[in-house]
Amino acid sequence: MLQVEHIGIAVKNLQESDNLFSKLLNISPYKHEEVESEFVMTSFFKIGTTKIELLEATNENSAIAKFIEKKGEGIHHIAYEVSDILAEMQRLKNEGFILLQETPKLGADNKLVCFLHPKSTNGVLIELCQERQ
Ligand code: ZN
Repeated sequence: MLQVEHIGIAVKNLQESDNLFSKLLNISPYKHEEVESEFVMTSFFKIGTTKIELLEATNENSAIAKFIEKKGEGIHHIAYEVSDILAEMQRLKNEGFILLQETPKLGADNKLVCFLHPKSTNGVLIELCQERQ
């Protein structure tokens, strides 16, 4: 793994949270992006080499809506950047981690992504991401 690429935070209202995080971090989000397949709207802030990804559900079937219903707003996942997502998925599978995808899917920010089930990672949802070529 190369670095923590971003931290995903589930929020109820993206506009309000954009304002909050803009004040907190003293910068504006550099982009907004909808991931239609995941029913989420995202916004991204860049801090050094790491990013904060705010996630708002666009409908009630979104994993973000379910997360907020169960746990409230807060840290949703930690994303690690990898150089070879397929190799890393295989390595983690061999180590006994539970992958939520058999093949990487297209995530926000032009990334291929794969998630690890929190029950195999001390309750933390882990995202692997690799920049798409
Ligand atoms: Zn993410």
